[in-house]
Amino acid sequence: MTPSDEEHMAQALVLARRGLGLTWPNPSVGSIVVTADGELVGRGWTAPGGRPHAEAVALEHAGAKTEGGTIYVTLEPCAHEGRGLACADAIVAAKPARAVIALRDPDPRTAGRGIARLKDAGIAVEEGVLTAEAASVALGHLMRVMHGRPAVTLKLAVGADGLVPQGQGQPVWITGPDARAHGHLLRSRSDAILVGRGTILSDDPSLTCRLPGMSCRSPIRVVLDRRLRTPPEAKLFDDMMVPVWLICAEGENLANAEPLQERGAEIVPVPVDDHGLIEVRDALETLAARGITRVLVEGGPSVARAFLDADLVDEAVIYQGPSSVGADGLMPFAGDGLDRLTGSRDFTKVASRAFGPDRMTLWRRMRTCSLALSAA
Ligand code: ZN
Repeated sequence: MTPSDEEHMAQALVLARRGLGLTWPNPSVGSIVVTADGELVGRGWTAPGGRPHAEAVALEHAGAKTEGGTIYVTLEPCAHEGRGLACADAIVAAKPARAVIALRDPDPRTAGRGIARLKDAGIAVEEGVLTAEAASVALGHLMRVMHGRPAVTLKLAVGADGLVPQGQGQPVWITGPDARAHGHLLRSRSDAILVGRGTILSDDPSLTCRLPGMSCRSPIRVVLDRRLRTPPEAKLFDDMMVPVWLICAEGENLANAEPLQERGAEIVPVPVDDHGLIEVRDALETLAARGITRVLVEGGPSVARAFLDADLVDEAVIYQGPSSVGADGLMPFAGDGLDRLTGSRDFTKVASRAFGPDRMTLWRRMRTCSLALSAA
């Protein structure tokens, strides 16, 4: 490994991040091609919808200049022919001298076979460059392939007193516009946003990405609504350019479904436990089966608590405003305070950033990091 290998892989990871939220059910991958002289001649990332793959785009861009050069890929090239040539075969045909790969793909259709195919063709393969970073970019894909569920990011906004404001038929903002814009960026990088029905009742949110020019990047909106009692007049049905999936209990009387379907909602029944309740893991597995790799959980307190209780929060993004919510505030984890997460040894703070008077902290579940890296 050379320092420039790391620099080039870092560039490929920047490209990979561009596709987050857009490529499901496929992972978002980045790739660059560099000649033996160090000239960057090709770059690509997974196209929206998952095809073409990053390597195909980078190789096409580089053309004949790939021969004798190095291709960098953030995830092992695929070995299965879907529509068109497998990326491993496309790389072999382009004849680079080296391939640098950040992370093996645990997808059983690839799982080392992509790398083997490159080696068999005499290409020098280098692994282990920026593997942890690549695993964090590919986390949704890794979780879906290895654990049958999407990666889960929990988003919370609290006041200085650690409490969550209660919506009054519309959202109550505890943070300023910069922090909220960052929250919308998080949405745009997710495949789906998930809330409980209570959030629809208290906040009546539209749950779209409202950054300028990025409304087309709004993820699927998912509501946990066991008995389909979401009001059909809820605001989230006003913009049906972005799908709404209502997760309800399997076998529930679906008489309520019709007015919701008329508003464009898709009804997604999920098996229930002995008490007739939907388990969070079952809901996530259903989403994964539909191709979702990254879910942003946005509320409210009882939904946040259910995910934490089930040990299904991989990352948490907490925005804390400078003023207190006061007596009307809710505990962020329905009876438990913020320290349930921030004081837990399961989570480590990995980043902290100011947005005007607000502070954002990013927490990562330690077990997730080791699970993701066990794929490497
Ligand atoms: Zn591929």
